[in-house]
Amino acid sequence: MKIVSYSVEGVTDYGFVVDRTDFVPRYFVEDILRERIPKDVKKLLPDIELRGLIEASLENVKLEKVPLSSVHIEPPIIDPKKIICIALNYRDHAEEVGLKIPEEIVFFLKPPTTLTGPFDSIIKPRMVEKIDYEGELAVVIGDRVKEVEPSEAMLYVFGYTVFNDVTARDLQFRDGLWRGWTMSKCFDTFAPMGPWVVSADEVEDPHNMRIITRVNKEIRQNSNTSNMIFKIPEIISYISHIMTLEPGDIIATGTPAGIGYTREDGLLKEGDIVEVWIEKIGAIRNQLISIK
Ligand code: MG
Repeated sequence: MKIVSYSVEGVTDYGFVVDRTDFVPRYFVEDILRERIPKDVKKLLPDIELRGLIEASLENVKLEKVPLSSVHIEPPIIDPKKIICIALNYRDHAEEVGLKIPEEIVFFLKPPTTLTGPFDSIIKPRMVEKIDYEGELAVVIGDRVKEVEPSEAMLYVFGYTVFNDVTARDLQFRDGLWRGWTMSKCFDTFAPMGPWVVSADEVEDPHNMRIITRVNKEIRQNSNTSNMIFKIPEIISYISHIMTLEPGDIIATGTPAGIGYTREDGLLKEGDIVEVWIEKIGAIRNQLISIK
């Protein structure tokens, strides 16, 4: 199952992607189910029985399809309660920024207001000069869980999506002080996500997916999720011992080497288009613009 969220004339809803170009809106799915399909996608994620019924309905060839190109595609989870980001989770990335490889998981939060659609613009804040990209695989949590062991953790994954952890490098350090991730990563539109969430049953191995970031078509990051230091079960277990995870929560799993900051002339400039692609999921493509 691939869940896409979209808006038409400002009204948001979700549906199910059925091929490369089309989707079936939630309310078109078989009449019998209509009353049962919640308006809030976060409520669908834990309902395995209902998801099965929807899958079966989508096989119905007569079901009306809508072109994805006719709607505005939104982040697949429009309003997650939290977005958790893992820092320094690829060995080569920790090395490129000169930080030691962590022995324990390091994470921070981004507020849901950072989210923007998979093809929407990233807006350059007036106070920021050095904007960077970080292509990442994001996990979408399917059910409420607290203090889960790694061996059980994958049962709480609904699926996977593509994420760009946009960062203001000039605000991570200022006045010689480490100002951390909150100030540098929490601007509105600094978390493009999508284009849809692919359910876990359609992803053979989330730790073996190619991940590529391009800026204006030039490859900048080219890695595989097999290179993560802390794997998804450990990450979910660790975080669930700190906070309850809930349906629709997002965990971005860290970025590989190749960020703009470590390259000559690598940071994003106005008008640049940054694309993050992950095998078996798809690509998000966002342009950096400034509002005059
Ligand atoms: Mg990151």
